[in-house]
Amino acid sequence: MKTAEALSQEIAACRSIAESLDRRVTVMEVCGTHTVAICRSGLADLLGENIRLVSGPGCPVCVSSQGYIDAAVAAARAGLTVTTYGDMLRVPGSDMPLAAARGEGARVVTVYSALEALYYAEAHPDEDVVFAAVGFETTAPATALAVKAAAGGPANFTALFSHKRILPAMMALVAAEDLQIDAFLCPGHVSVIVGSEEYEPVAATGRPCVVAGFEPLDVARALRMILEQVRSGEARVENEYTRAVRPGGNPAAKRLLEEVFEPAQEYWRGIGMISESGLAPRGGFRRFDAAERHGIDIKEVPEPAGCRCGEVIRGAIDPEDCALFADRCRPTSPVGPCMVSREGSCGAHYRYSRRPA
Ligand code: SF4
Repeated sequence: MKTAEALSQEIAACRSIAESLDRRVTVMEVCGTHTVAICRSGLADLLGENIRLVSGPGCPVCVSSQGYIDAAVAAARAGLTVTTYGDMLRVPGSDMPLAAARGEGARVVTVYSALEALYYAEAHPDEDVVFAAVGFETTAPATALAVKAAAGGPANFTALFSHKRILPAMMALVAAEDLQIDAFLCPGHVSVIVGSEEYEPVAATGRPCVVAGFEPLDVARALRMILEQVRSGEARVENEYTRAVRPGGNPAAKRLLEEVFEPAQEYWRGIGMISESGLAPRGGFRRFDAAERHGIDIKEVPEPAGCRCGEVIRGAIDPEDCALFADRCRPTSPVGPCMVSREGSCGAHYRYSRRPA
């Protein structure tokens, strides 16, 4: 069967099942890449009134706190070399983004991996190099590898750790009294590492969980699988993305995470502090903690005035509900991180759901 024909059939099946339900079903897509896929394909507009799709905390840049950005900017302005993924450069801090600090002369270096940051440190022994270690279980193994390699490598490498675990955040959203999430479209990339079994605790709360790939057909098929569970009154974990995700995930990556990190409390923009939702270096690897070695203080500070990224990240509002959307806040002049990142909900809605004038 051709892909377009299969997609058309899955969308029709979603509509048919949804119309047979006596209520509207709210499905949260946890992953920012899913948000982009849904917006770009226009899927949300094709599913009918009884399905509401909301974005969740799956954009790693967006959930990094304002205080973390400020700490990275302060470190760069204090003379440390901050190495970072490109997505982080334009996220507004309280005073400025990292890109502006670089414009002032601070050493801010874009890297594509944690190992590249380590290589930079080796090549620049006179600099104190700090890697901005953000992201979910997808990028955390690469940081773990770099930290492990650094144990026998240069003494001038540290990381400002803010890695996050997706499951505790999902459980926090499930427990939030002001949210009503009926089911989860579970992330594809994270699940390659953690495995589809990770979401059993979420399904145990009565919410269907389906891991999905990133093509429109993957998403539509996963939504149909969710709706079939809702119709039959079931709630279990299913895996649509079988070509990449196994029930137990990637054992080697999980062992690496376990060796280098231990669960720690972590602050999420929009959600707050969640216990065991972060990954802190354990044992001897703590000497690579930039916060400790360089006395970097990560304070919690207010969000930019008027920015509702926190509510967008929790799925409490749609980006268009923010008064600044497509007005004062645009990709060329972002007020909050959800408009900056390629995976941010506001940016995806701006690019695909609402065309600029
Ligand atoms: S539109 Fe801009 S200001 Fe509003 S929530 Fe999104 S990123 Fe924040």
